Amino acid sequence: MQTSFTDVQLEQPDIQAANNILRTCVHCGFCTATCPTYLLTGDERDGPRGRIYLIKDMLENDTASADAVTHIDRCLSCLGCMTTCPSGVDYMHLVDHARSHIETKFKRPLADRFWRGLIAGILPHRGRFRLAMRLGRLARPFVSLLPGKLRAMVLLLPSASGKIPTRETVGKTNEATGERLKRVALLAGCVQQDLAPRINAATISLLTRHGCAVVIPSGVGCCGALTHHMGRDDDSLQSVRANVHAWWREMDGQGLDAIVVNASGCGTMVKDYGHILRNDPQWADKARHVSALACDISEIAQTLALDISSPGSGLVVAYHSACSLRHGQKIDGGPQQLLAKAGFEIREPAASHLCCGSAGVYNILQPEFATQLGDRKAASLNKLGADMVATGNVGCMMQLAGRLDAPVLHSVELLNWATGGERPEMIRQDK
Ligand code: SF4
Ligand code: SF4
Repeated sequence: MQTSFTDVQLEQPDIQAANNILRTCVHCGFCTATCPTYLLTGDERDGPRGRIYLIKDMLENDTASADAVTHIDRCLSCLGCMTTCPSGVDYMHLVDHARSHIETKFKRPLADRFWRGLIAGILPHRGRFRLAMRLGRLARPFVSLLPGKLRAMVLLLPSASGKIPTRETVGKTNEATGERLKRVALLAGCVQQDLAPRINAATISLLTRHGCAVVIPSGVGCCGALTHHMGRDDDSLQSVRANVHAWWREMDGQGLDAIVVNASGCGTMVKDYGHILRNDPQWADKARHVSALACDISEIAQTLALDISSPGSGLVVAYHSACSLRHGQKIDGGPQQLLAKAGFEIREPAASHLCCGSAGVYNILQPEFATQLGDRKAASLNKLGADMVATGNVGCMMQLAGRLDAPVLHSVELLNWATGGERPEMIRQDK
């Protein structure tokens, strides 16, 4: 693609990087066929190629029009287009740049600013999120009376009958059972700890029973992805630096063999820390090391000799491939193989490459698109007639939970169970 940045613009490293990305696009349009939002609207501007043109125009003219913002906001950052693109266009970093450009150049309508500020001010902060969960539960009986975005937020919270878990102790090491083979840090996550604490419990159980000491270092909080995808660079960088600092302290102290992430959206972000801080001389090296150590739970599980002591007895599992795992981290096949090895029969839905509409806070900010995508995904999973649905990202679990005929679990819960860990509460005793 031809670009026309001025020499002065090209002196800025971010513009230079965007220019390089834009020039790799040959506008073939292959990516449009696999873009979930293009499939919904049929509008070129809701597909990757159209968005790339909008971003090019926006950056070259140093503006951000309401029309361009509308179509870029509708992008899920699912990265399905990157998997399809034959030319290797780095759409992820291009749209990240566009989102932060919009934040500085475009004045959003008041209501939009309010919702974005509310999300950024609550979700990444555990104490505030726990308070919001309590208020959300009080609001549940009146959910149909709430305005769209608030309704979407309340509906994403777990059912009112579930207890809000107590805070876990951070900083302590969960020792390996038997000989210690590795020492790893677990990213406990921000909302995940309260929305589905069973995921971290299963992860710690699986790892410690297979020779890994697991530490949750103090000072590690939200990975920064929620605010990063809203273009709020200051908030996001604050989270990124705090995490790099805390993990670096652990590496420097007792050493770390891996940083394990069990929410694939967060994993994609942590693996990108090296890129995000590449131009910051104080942090670049440390961030690169952190990214190199980051791995999804399925990646480390593949390196362990899993003891399949209670195989899944042929229970049928519909596997939902989270975009952040499949397209963001290029991990596809590994989790399914692990589950099959653990004795589960794996089935995958039609159009498994398409996003479920969760996409971080997308289902709050773009509820209409997210609802259509969630309903489509759930319908294709329900067709499989499985005993349960498994996936690798808490956001997808929350998005799909109310739409499925079967319970939805994190893959690590099933691996933990099949290797002698606790039976997931959501699976009935007769299974
Ligand atoms: S598939 Fe790649 S090269 Fe083709 S239009 Fe899409 S982004 Fe550009
Ligand atoms: S990231 Fe997803 S929604 Fe956005 S342009 Fe690419 S395929 Fe479409």
